[in-house]
Amino acid sequence: MNTETTKCLIIGSGPAGYTAAIYATRANLAPILYEGLQPGGQLTTTSEVENFPGYPDGVMGSQMMEDFKNQAARFGADIRSGYIEKIDLSKRPFEALDDNGATVMADTVIIATGASAKYLGLPDETTYAGMGVSACATCDGFFYRGRTVAVVGGGDTACEEAYYLSGLAKQVYLIVRKPHLRASKVMQKRVTEKENITILYNTNTLGLFGEGFLEGAHLVEHAGTDKEHKFDIKIDGFFLAIGHKPNTDLFEGQLKLDDQGYIVLPGDNQQTSVAGVFAAGDVADPKYQQAVCAAGSGCRAALDADLFLMEQQ
Ligand code: NDP
Repeated sequence: MNTETTKCLIIGSGPAGYTAAIYATRANLAPILYEGLQPGGQLTTTSEVENFPGYPDGVMGSQMMEDFKNQAARFGADIRSGYIEKIDLSKRPFEALDDNGATVMADTVIIATGASAKYLGLPDETTYAGMGVSACATCDGFFYRGRTVAVVGGGDTACEEAYYLSGLAKQVYLIVRKPHLRASKVMQKRVTEKENITILYNTNTLGLFGEGFLEGAHLVEHAGTDKEHKFDIKIDGFFLAIGHKPNTDLFEGQLKLDDQGYIVLPGDNQQTSVAGVFAAGDVADPKYQQAVCAAGSGCRAALDADLFLMEQQ
């Protein structure tokens, strides 16, 4: 298999990866970008994005990512639909192996691999995967028209998904483990005012049941207290919206990660614990996780990579 060289390898698409590609191409770094298993990243699984500046009427997440990609391609970024299977960050140039067996030797690497949805860890989630259990309401909500579903979580994602599903399903339960929602005030207002959303506070999921397809969930309210109450709800769909796990398995043992697996950026720029390796977007951002922040950090990572290469000359 062939070996290529590049000044800048970008791993991952999404707002961080594509923005890094826009800036890196304009800095003459001729970057190679691998889009990964989910081209466009998480935004391709959301519905309308209303808070990205420059789209006053909102924009569909997948359309926005197409716009980002086209902008990077216009300047000549080499955008590929594969993924990086293995990478050695122990010496420069860094050596990456793609899913076709080709090797890319890179002077700098920008990691923009994002984060993936978390699951509760119940064995039943696997049993009913694709048969009632989902982590993406906008991908799978269509199958639950006129039916009853539950969403787990109390953050913005959970509220957004519950609200979206309430337009399709007959009834939506929002299962929240705390006595309050964590979501922004505007999202809280939307879900509490929607008549077909029922919020179950102080409630956890014990398990799921059903013959073949999902038919319901076993829940517990006020677990471990004298008010503890176990009960079942009948549902056709169970949607997880309890946060994300950073996609850093590829870099374990090679870069400094925090206790949740996010890439640590030790300085005041996007450089990781390894010189010449930069990170951008949700993979290094446990706090904000917004598309606009990811895009901004993608820009910073490309500028940092360019500066790093100039300093090496
Ligand atoms: P969050 O981390 O904000 O919320 C996760 C929710 O899941 C919390 O309510 C948490 O409960 C709950 N949870 C976590 N683990 C479990 C568990 N094991 N069992 C039950 N419940 C659990 O994640 P989000 O994905 O909602 O949001 C991430 C970031 O993205 C946030 O900054 C958010 O504001 C942002 N976002 C913004 C949007 C927008 O502006 N349009 C849309 C979507 C997300 P607890 O509160 O008890 O910890």
